[in-house]
Formats: sequence, C-alpha cells, structure tokens
Amino acid sequence: MKEIEVTSKLGKELTSDEIQTAAVKALGVSPKMKQQIRYRIMRRSIDARNDILYRYRIEVYKPDEVMAEYVLDEYKDVSGSEPVIVIGAGPAGMFASLRLLMNGFRPVVLERGKDVHQRKFDMAKLSRDGVVNPDSNYCFGEGGAGTFSDGKLYTRSSKRGDIREVLHQLVRFGADPSILIDAHPHIGSDRLPLVVENIRKCIVEHGGEYHFDSRVTDITKKGDGTFDVTVADGQIYSSRKVILATGHSARDIYEMFDRKGWEIQSKGFALGVRVEHPQSLINKIQYHGKYQPFMPTAEYSFVTQIEGRGVFSFCMCPGGILVPAATAEGELVLNGMSNSQRNSKWANSGVVVQIEPEDFPEYAQHGPLALLQFQKDVERKMFEYTGSLKAPAQRMMDFCRRIPSTGLPQTSYHPGAANAPLHELLPEHVSLRLKYAFPEIGNKKMRGYYTNDALLLGVESRTSSPVRIPRDPETLEHIQVPGLYPCGEGAGYAGGIVSSALDGINCAARI
Ligand SMILES: Cc1cc2nc3c(=O)[nH]c(=O)nc-3n(C[C@H](O)[C@H](O)[C@H](O)COP(=O)(O)OP(=O)(O)OC[C@H]3O[C@@H](n4cnc5c(N)ncnc54)[C@H](O)[C@@H]3O)c2cc1C
Repeated sequence: MKEIEVTSKLGKELTSDEIQTAAVKALGVSPKMKQQIRYRIMRRSIDARNDILYRYRIEVYKPDEVMAEYVLDEYKDVSGSEPVIVIGAGPAGMFASLRLLMNGFRPVVLERGKDVHQRKFDMAKLSRDGVVNPDSNYCFGEGGAGTFSDGKLYTRSSKRGDIREVLHQLVRFGADPSILIDAHPHIGSDRLPLVVENIRKCIVEHGGEYHFDSRVTDITKKGDGTFDVTVADGQIYSSRKVILATGHSARDIYEMFDRKGWEIQSKGFALGVRVEHPQSLINKIQYHGKYQPFMPTAEYSFVTQIEGRGVFSFCMCPGGILVPAATAEGELVLNGMSNSQRNSKWANSGVVVQIEPEDFPEYAQHGPLALLQFQKDVERKMFEYTGSLKAPAQRMMDFCRRIPSTGLPQTSYHPGAANAPLHELLPEHVSLRLKYAFPEIGNKKMRGYYTNDALLLGVESRTSSPVRIPRDPETLEHIQVPGLYPCGEGAGYAGGIVSSALDGINCAARI
C-alpha cells in the first residue's frame, strides 16, 4: 500500500481512471494492471494558495494487497440486559448509548428537553417572541447543543479515540458520506435532526429507553452501591452505573454537585462576541478574489495571543445565521448555526478571549462556581442593557476605536441588534484584548477582515464549561463517586460534537 496525493480542479470530480493512473507509478506496477488497483480516498481538502484545487490523499493498493474495510461493531438486542442510566441526549449521551448497545448494556436515556421535532417549536418561539423555555432551547433537547448548529465535525485528532466510530455512525444514521473524507466536514442543521432521530430509533429498537421531559433533579448513591436518579416529576430510575452527559449549560447540575459536597472545580473558558461579516467579503478574502459560486462557502479560523491570553475564533459558521442560545430568562447569549448548503449571506464566528479563574479574583468567593457566576453576570448585563433578546451590537472599527456606531448593518440575528457601547459592556479583560486582536487579524492574517461592515454582537459566552467535574483518569468515574461517569463537554473533558461523542464512547467502554 502507498499513500499518494492527487489534485483536481474544484467543481470537477476526480475519476477512478485518474487515481489509478497516478497509482501505477507510485506502486511500480505494470500499466496493464491499472484497473485492478484498488484505492481508498482518505482526505479531501481545498488548497486556495494559488490555483484553487481539491487536494486528495489516497491509499492505493496493488492487486494482491488486502484493503481492510472499517467495520462498525453491531448493536445487540439489550432488552432485559443490565440498565445504565444516561443523563442527557447530546452527542456524549447518544454515542455513549450506542456504545452501550454494542457492549450489551441497556441505555436508559433521561433528557430534560423534548424530541427533536417538538423542540423546533420552542426554538421558533424563542426567536420570534423572545420566550426562553428553560428545558427546550438551542442547548437543551434531543441531540443536545449540537442539533441546531453548523454541525462542524472539527476534531480530527485521534488523541481521544478512534473518530471513525463517530463519523461512520453519523453516516449510518443519515449524514452525507463526504464527512468521512472532507478535511473540514460539516452536516448542517437541516440534516442533523434526522440523524439524531435515527440514533434514538436505533437505541429504542434494540431495547434501550428514551424519556423526554425528564430533567434530573437529584442523584443519590445508596448503601448497596446503586444509584437512584430522580427527575422533576418525581419519577425515580435506578442503576449501578450512571453516565452524566448534561452539557456545559446545565448549571443546575453543577449546583447540585456543590450542594451534595461532590467535588467540582472552577475551570477556564473563553468569552467574547459573535462577529458577523457579509459572506461575500469572507469568500473574497479567503479565495483571494477568485471565488466562484460552485466553490464551498469560505471559512476562517485564527488564534493569537494578546497580553498573555489567547484570543481566537470559535465555532465559525460560514453562510450561517446567529441564534439566541440562552437557557434561562434574563440572559443573553449568542451562537451560530448553518444549514448544509451554508447559503445565507452572512458569515459569523465567535471571537473570544481565554479566561482563567485568577483573572477575576473578585469571584473567588463563589469557590468552584466562580467563573460560572462570572459568565451569568455578563449574560445578564447584556440582557439588562436591551431588556430583551435584542443583542447589544457595535461596528467592528467603532468598537476598537471605542466610539459609538452610527447605524448598524443588517444582521441575521432574528431578535435584532441594538446599537450599544459593547466596548464598555464587556469586561475590560475581554474588551481590551479584542480591541487589539481585530486590527491585527486584518493586517496580518485576513486583509479586509477589519472593517466597519462587520458587526459585533454580545455575548458569546458558552464556549466550554466554566466548571470541571473531576474524574479518575483511568476509570473515568467521579473521583469521589465510583459508578458515576461525568462525561462530555459538561464535565469539562470535551469541546464540540466529535470530542463529546468520543468521550461518550470512552465512558461507555469503561463500563
Ligand atoms: C448553536 C450552537 C452551535 C454549535 N455548533 C457546533 C458545531 O458546528 N460543531 C461543534 O463541534 N460543536 C458545536 N457546538 C457545540 C456542541 O454542540 C457541543 O460541544 C456538544 O453538543 C456537547 O455535547 P454534550 O453531549 O457533551 O452536551 P450537550 O450537547 O450540551 O447535551 C447535553 C444534553 O443534556 C441535557 N440535560 C442537561 N441537563 C439535564 C438534566 N438535568 N436532566 C436531563 N437532561 C439534561 C440537555 O438537554 C442536552 O440535551 C454548537 C453549540 C451550539 C449551542
């Protein structure tokens, strides 16, 4: 086997003949054997440095070599098997449940929100009327925070586990197979609900259980080592093992741990703004003026250091829209999502500043919940400024020059934007670093990015969890509560759809 690299023009499919022709030379076989050469495309990426090309990485095999296929384990019928309670039906909970099925355990999924179809009505209400349902919103409900997102699958590193298990299952449940090879795969919020629903159907068909409208309010460990898990309507579920995959916005779960004296720790996270540019401008910058409508909508990402703290783009949504991601009344939080075509006229991204517990000593009195309290306060301040889900907003150059904007550009954010001195509303730690970061990005990395046509909206604050639920590095159980597996983004051990899914798989595999 050899790995070869082949390029093709964007918009033109690479043919078998082209691949096999390139492989003949690389493998040193006779041209007569060309058609017997087998191959597997490993990766497709766009190279926009000069002529804009697709660059393929391909494994090619001589006719007598074995080309092993990746095979997913089969799901077992687990009706009657030992139950494992999985709290939360986000990527971590769903992939933990699928792995439990493979290993012969019966997942009992408790989800505070609604199924993916009912959930859509609550999100429509949220955008239209500004009403936040604390159990059903952009973070809570079937599929978790990843369902109505861009569905970027950006973890490519195998450090946390074999990501093929995640990608192949996503394809099995309805995602486009291109995610298996694309360097920057994404699914899109128009396709994710089907994938999420198919995962649930598979779990239930194999004997697992799903319970919606089941917000967990208490977990107790009994003398015999089993857990009682209580949900809001008083129902109690029991099992010997519990996977806790409640995501980074389940503040009530952190508070429950704190009340029970189960250890949690304050953890750094990042906070800043959502930045919205016209997508046409980002296409122009990233494709050096050569963008054609058949090309993929351009993305960007950057990271820089300002005054000892990282400043970076976060969860960029090309051709996407901004959405209200608050989980309670009186908070203002923005995030972004896109559909599979990424065809809105806007490009949005979080641009956020790293925050460590020592940056805000005034919050130390809140102990492990210090940065959670800080996060809440910033979100409330934004809400109080407009008194609604309208987002305080300022043009980019005005923000950096610390002057008010006169008039705002259009935005995709449905509740709307209100002209505001964001530079004053944000904590100085964040505001000052952003002030220096934007011109730097425009000068050094993306000419044209630093412009008053870009709108900054506050606040992007749910980048990762501000709390860690510590666990044993080997067993993945909570350090004081054996049998309880803090999992995914909410435990502070993952960030994003793929890494949370992998963490779910790892916890289930430990069980
Ligand atoms: C709008 C948006 C866009 C995003 N875009 C992307 C993207 O493109 N790519 C990417 O990689 N990441 C994206 N993310 C982040 C990604 O969604 C998360 O990293 C990921 O979903 C975390 O997975 P998780 O399973 O750990 O937690 P979550 O997805 O947060 O799931 C936790 C689940 O637990 C449930 N729950 C919470 N508390 C309780 C309770 N007490 N009882 C019962 N159930 C409970 C919640 O309702 C939720 O369903 C986006 C997030 C948002 C909000």
